[in-house]
Amino acid sequence: MTSFGHIIDGREQDSLDGSRFDSIDPWTREPWADLALGGPAEAGLAVAAARRAFDEGPWPRLGYAERGALLHRLADLVEEHADELALADSRDMGKPVADARDKDVPRAARNFRFFADHARLATSEAYPSDTGHHAYARFEPAGVVAAIAPWNFPLMLETWKVAPALAWGNTVVLKPAEDSPASATILARLAIEAGFPPGVFNVVHGYGPASAGEALTTDPRVDRITFTGESGTGRIITAAAARNLTPVSLELGGKGANLVFADADLDNAVDWSIKAIFTNAGQVCLAGSRLFVERPVLEEFTARFVAAAEALVIGDPRDPATQVGPLASETHWRKVSGYLDDPGGKVLTGGRGDGWVIRPTIVSEVPADSPLQCQEVFGPVVTITPFDTEAEAVRAANDSPFGLNAMVFTENLSRAHRVSAALRAGTVWTNCFFVRDLRAPFGGVGDSGWGREGGNFSREFFTEPKAVVMAIRDER
Ligand code: NAD
Repeated sequence: MTSFGHIIDGREQDSLDGSRFDSIDPWTREPWADLALGGPAEAGLAVAAARRAFDEGPWPRLGYAERGALLHRLADLVEEHADELALADSRDMGKPVADARDKDVPRAARNFRFFADHARLATSEAYPSDTGHHAYARFEPAGVVAAIAPWNFPLMLETWKVAPALAWGNTVVLKPAEDSPASATILARLAIEAGFPPGVFNVVHGYGPASAGEALTTDPRVDRITFTGESGTGRIITAAAARNLTPVSLELGGKGANLVFADADLDNAVDWSIKAIFTNAGQVCLAGSRLFVERPVLEEFTARFVAAAEALVIGDPRDPATQVGPLASETHWRKVSGYLDDPGGKVLTGGRGDGWVIRPTIVSEVPADSPLQCQEVFGPVVTITPFDTEAEAVRAANDSPFGLNAMVFTENLSRAHRVSAALRAGTVWTNCFFVRDLRAPFGGVGDSGWGREGGNFSREFFTEPKAVVMAIRDER
């Protein structure tokens, strides 16, 4: 068994009462790591360390270049420890290790590099006037940031929060998900090795309700809460944060619509539609879990889509050939399994596999108001529904409380723009999926969240913009 502690004030440590918990490998279904189990006391210590580092330490007062150099050094170390980090995420939550190593870890390193450079190169607005005054904007660090993360892309999503928060001069307490805690500790160890001052980046392990997570959301010493997770948890965190009027950023659930028009390049549409729902065993907020296909190509698209789903390699996440691993935990497997007990339509392929595996599952003829069509399943399960007109497709896609993302497959340029504009979603991908420009806004509409992250949008959240107004005196 591998052991991990909290990282508080630049030191790896146990919980005050010595409590620990296991992380279960969902493929072997055995514990592979044991970790310090924190609660309100450890969260409080981590916030105190972050507060001290912000109020008295050098971090917020370092220049962007100096902070950026440390962030680049951390990115170097992330790349050097790619195998260790990828294996930790894979063993914690069952994702294919090849995906973690080739996609998630490079993206984590890129998050640090991008936000280091973005902060260093950012400009601010000036407001010249002819009334004898000159005003300009400064972006002051907000203070102590609490980052609360989910288990589906542990390292990648954690760094998406930690990197901009640190780049803009804040100090951070990260609480990773209890199902995927290991890579956060490794990252914080690397930050110590890179030379980050104590208290700048802390990691506290624990659960959400009545534990470390809740304590972070109610602590008045916290200046920002950035949360990624379920919409229901987002509501609870928002209510908790309201007591202290702490600003909250919420990246929540999704139920992505994927529209395939008859004029689409079908090879491309099938390829991306497979990736959109079966990557990470469908445990993706952006998953294209509601497919809508224009009737003239329904039969051909469905036949190709089913064949491609059946060709995916299911198995041991440590095997480099594996494309679909088990679900992240027994609890989550039970939840997804429950939808298959009564899918409400015709199962064209898929179903339960061995252990905590759900095979890539495609269901047709699902009524618009059935749970499978309306709720976030968060597994490798997709519904496929025909449509006859563009207006009908847009109406069906928008018929959801979620609005994180949507996909459109068409070779008609005007339609691509028209439909992208009409879809109620934070991101619309046309003829592709998952392509991210870190400068672009990322976030959701409705039950999918509050606020946007990425580039200047992250700056807005992690800083206090300040107006400085100066009088210009007449010559004396
Ligand atoms: P979750 O809401 O159960 O847990 C997320 C985190 O919140 C965990 O660290 C958990 O310990 C903590 N938490 C739970 N209750 C809390 C409370 N009362 N106070 C403080 N912290 C609390 O989510 P999950 O199951 O880990 O993740 C899956 C969900 O995340 C899905 O809904 C998925 O769509 C969503 N997600 C969204 C995005 C996005 O960018 N929009 C990205 C990835 C995942």
